[in-house]
Amino acid sequence: MVFRIFRCKESALNFQYLKCGAETYQFEVKPLGKSCQLCKSATPIVTLTTQSLKLCKGCFLRIQERRVLEAVKKYKMFGDEDKVGIFLSGGKDSSVLALLLKRLFPRLHLEGVYLNLGIGYYSNYVEEAVRRLCEKLQLPLTVYHLPVRDGFTIDDFVFTDFKDKVCSVCGTIKRYLFSRLAKELGLTVIATGHHLDDLLSTYLTLFFSGDFESIKRLVPVNPPFFPGQAKKVKPLFFIPEREIFYVAALEELPLEPCSCPHGEITPSKRMKQWLESLSQENRALKYQLLSVFLKKFIPMIKLDEVAETFNTCLKCGEYTSSPNQICGRCRRVALLERVSDRKLEFTMEEWDAISDKNDWLIFDVREKEDFLREHLEGAQFVPHSLLDDEKALYKFFKPYKNKRLLFYCYSGRLSYLFTLKLRKLSFKAYNLRIS
Ligand SMILES: [Zn+2]
Ligand SMILES: [Zn+2]
Repeated sequence: MVFRIFRCKESALNFQYLKCGAETYQFEVKPLGKSCQLCKSATPIVTLTTQSLKLCKGCFLRIQERRVLEAVKKYKMFGDEDKVGIFLSGGKDSSVLALLLKRLFPRLHLEGVYLNLGIGYYSNYVEEAVRRLCEKLQLPLTVYHLPVRDGFTIDDFVFTDFKDKVCSVCGTIKRYLFSRLAKELGLTVIATGHHLDDLLSTYLTLFFSGDFESIKRLVPVNPPFFPGQAKKVKPLFFIPEREIFYVAALEELPLEPCSCPHGEITPSKRMKQWLESLSQENRALKYQLLSVFLKKFIPMIKLDEVAETFNTCLKCGEYTSSPNQICGRCRRVALLERVSDRKLEFTMEEWDAISDKNDWLIFDVREKEDFLREHLEGAQFVPHSLLDDEKALYKFFKPYKNKRLLFYCYSGRLSYLFTLKLRKLSFKAYNLRIS
């Protein structure tokens, strides 16, 4: 559970949010002075991160609404005739985007889409949060169930050479589904929750790697790349990430802890941390950088005029710029077809049905509070701290490289994490699903 609210003695509210990569955001709601520096009347409870203004809840939310309105108008992101879709992830960014668009454009055709990618305990858990969010916002929701529709899950990629690049495969599959589903649902615009910190950290990462072509493409509005594709827009790009969290907290949105078991630390996550520390010294830095990139640097980048040629993928029929006429998604899915056994989990009945267990070792990764419940005979206890230290994890399990390893706990979360991490290190690990 990651989005926590604590109610303290002085009736202050305390919100906590754990981001991917194990960073925590905290926000304690308590009076910061006598009166809001804008309306001069209500009690200030929040400070803007980009300037030192102490604001009341109403003024703070109005500023965020204004930023979105300005972004949408200035970049002509959509009009009355558009059908706008938001791919909801259960996290703060897409949830706040849905809230603000719904509030600012009550007559706009807006709908939510959730991609259930069949990721262990995680995808179904998040689906619940997304359903609660859509109920609260009265937003129509379509759920796309990847295992049912396409016959595979993102976890299946731990059986391929992409086993330690699962996040990158997931990105390719999601982008493909964005465009396929937009067509299926007749969406003309896809709005995404990219915020100021997303944009800047990616700019800087690309800048340092000299990839100016990708910088040129990373703008608040992307027109369709292929004929018939939806336009992609980023209405939150003026809002710093921390303030998005404040909005989610103040509106008490039902968020799901961002704890995808594949969550990897990417270069752009490190860049965000660096950017954050620089902004501590200069609160205006992020807007200065944004303006340098959008107004000065990007207009200077000249791309070679190469006429884009599109093919349709021979396998799925979607547009692709790949010269061999098989799209990136289909190339990756083809790897799965070569894997005969994609089993990662056993139910209790399946486990009991295995008669010869000589080849197996059982590992107990239960949470402390479950220690009094019954435990599997012969199970060896494993410290949870190994999950944060890949080298130690490998060393611990190295003697069992040729064995089959079964992990169990009662929530099914830690045991699944051990299973995935060890699969990525080429061990034959399995999860036991107890509930
Ligand atoms: Zn105010
Ligand atoms: Zn394809």
